[in-house]
Amino acid sequence: MGAERSGSYGNRMPIRLFLLLICLCGALGVWARPALGQTGSPHAVPTIALSTIGDGIELINHALILRDPGAVLDLDQALTSPDWQWLGPDRRNAGITDDLFWIRFRLRNDTGTAQEVVASYDIANLTAFTAYVRVPDGSLTRTDVDPGLPYDQRAVASPLPAVSILLPAGEERDVTVAFGNAFPVPMNTDINLWSAAGFDRHTLLLTTFIVFLVGCLTTAAAFWLLYGAFMRQGRMVVYALYMTGLVAVYLSFTGVGEQILFPSTVWLRGLGFHWAMFCVGAACLEFARRHLDIARLHPGHDRFMRLGAAACLCMAVVSFPSRYPEIEAPLTFVAMTGAPLYVTWRSWIAWRRDGISYASWMVIGWGGVTASSVMGVFGSEMNLPYVDLSQAEFTRLVFACTVVESLLFSASLGQWLRGQEVRRIAAEAEASRDALTGLLNRRGFDAQVLHLKQAGLWPGRLWLALIDLDRFKEINDTYSHAAGDAVLTHFATMLRREFRANDVTVRFGGEEFILLFEAESEEAACSAVDRVRRRFAGTPTRYEGAMIGHTLSAGLVPVADGPDGDEATLIAMADAALYGAKKAGRNIVRASSELTDPEIAQRPAPGGSAELSPLIETATARQ
Ligand code: GH3
Ligand code: MG
Ligand code: MG
Repeated sequence: MGAERSGSYGNRMPIRLFLLLICLCGALGVWARPALGQTGSPHAVPTIALSTIGDGIELINHALILRDPGAVLDLDQALTSPDWQWLGPDRRNAGITDDLFWIRFRLRNDTGTAQEVVASYDIANLTAFTAYVRVPDGSLTRTDVDPGLPYDQRAVASPLPAVSILLPAGEERDVTVAFGNAFPVPMNTDINLWSAAGFDRHTLLLTTFIVFLVGCLTTAAAFWLLYGAFMRQGRMVVYALYMTGLVAVYLSFTGVGEQILFPSTVWLRGLGFHWAMFCVGAACLEFARRHLDIARLHPGHDRFMRLGAAACLCMAVVSFPSRYPEIEAPLTFVAMTGAPLYVTWRSWIAWRRDGISYASWMVIGWGGVTASSVMGVFGSEMNLPYVDLSQAEFTRLVFACTVVESLLFSASLGQWLRGQEVRRIAAEAEASRDALTGLLNRRGFDAQVLHLKQAGLWPGRLWLALIDLDRFKEINDTYSHAAGDAVLTHFATMLRREFRANDVTVRFGGEEFILLFEAESEEAACSAVDRVRRRFAGTPTRYEGAMIGHTLSAGLVPVADGPDGDEATLIAMADAALYGAKKAGRNIVRASSELTDPEIAQRPAPGGSAELSPLIETATARQ
């Protein structure tokens, strides 16, 4: 946690991006002043000349609109109603649940050739879509688009409700479309006009766009699901489930899932998508709960988040299939905005107070998801002028934003993983070090030997010296154990200074040390160790006013002399040389090559009385 905290305040990039985003949105709001809708005579049916329109035009300012609360009117009643109004930009997103909308306009083919015009609604989820086309002589054709019909069995093959109108050259058609909305959210009241080819292109583009978004989420979800499953990381699995839930929502909402990708699953539409939204809310809470370590840091919030996730799951079960959309829809809104909003707050606390640096990505991600969810529901109603997006386009923009925001959590997980790895490496390094002196311990020594072997540097020109401080027990007994510790750290500091960074200096146990270093010859190796011996003897340790004198003895052996792959024997050889040095009176460095056979034989029986000749330097009196 300490490492987390130190990194947290340094990583300000995500929050700066977030603030910049908020500033941009603010600037957009100031720039976008209310639009003035064109008004006109309520009862004059506008005529649209085909030569004057482009592909995909909206009927805003080209049609009349009639609200039909409760869907009580038939065609004749609708046409004779006095309540027709001009479809200006102000009525673009005026729909609410249980309304049927009637749109009325007239098409005139002034192009000189027969034309096919497709009138479509740009969102797949409608409860009703009926088009009445009247030829001037009075005959009327009625086309119903059944939302439960696979796209390839519809009059116009598309997940979007659409009707095709054939206009011979010079003729006119009166078109009236009635359409209904099952969701208690503001609804686009707009119909788009296309050429047949243009509408095919639009359907293809829409499908490609949704498949691309879904592809991004699915790829990331599959990755984290597998990774999380193999690494036993619940947070990754829950994150994958969160993205899977989003995929279900997108596919179902846009109709691309069951209409285009899997036409045989069109019955899924009957299940609605509220259940998927509740699952997304539950996954949001559970992912954040796990990822932000809430159970350990904030037990109260942990209980609340568990409860929230459980409530969302219950709602998911209840709304599968969707039976009470008028209750489910507002609750999904609570789940889809409330959960991310709450989690944004907790991410902020985790980042700023708990020092969890990877939570910064969560702040942006969940903050963005919250904003996207609110915009998805209310954004279209805001009628932002100059931001010339229909509700459908707006919804697609929100989808795209939500995908990007969701993928930010991958960055958060990545940063968390990196932190874990850094901590693991640090712990490993810690476990290889002796706590008192900071030198390598036995485990570190073994790792270094392995490393040298793997790098092809073993045995090379390596030498191993086993050093033992002389009469160390007396130091402990005379001055105290703490003083002994001070001598050990003093010696370790000296070793680090005397030897290069890539030499291996080890506290092998108690007051025994190992040096592993490169030397050209025995003479060079002996003089290197002897330099340490002299310096140690010449610099007593200061401890609480006392000057503690000390010496060391060392045994030295060329690594090449040891049996391959058997460091224990190599150390035993050095130990024999060390034993020789002790026997010779201490404060001596002795090389194994100078041992006689009897000396070697004598080592396993400590306390032997063999007289050993002084080698590098004659034994001197203890300092
Ligand atoms: P010799 O010259 O024969 O090596 O005699 P010695 O007293 O150095 O050897 P001995 O093996 O009898 O004693 C080693 C002492 O080192 C015994 C033990 O209490 C002490 N020792 C081991 N580890 C530590 C430590 O971490 N701190 C301190 N202060 N003493 C330690
Ligand atoms: Mg010893
Ligand atoms: Mg000793």
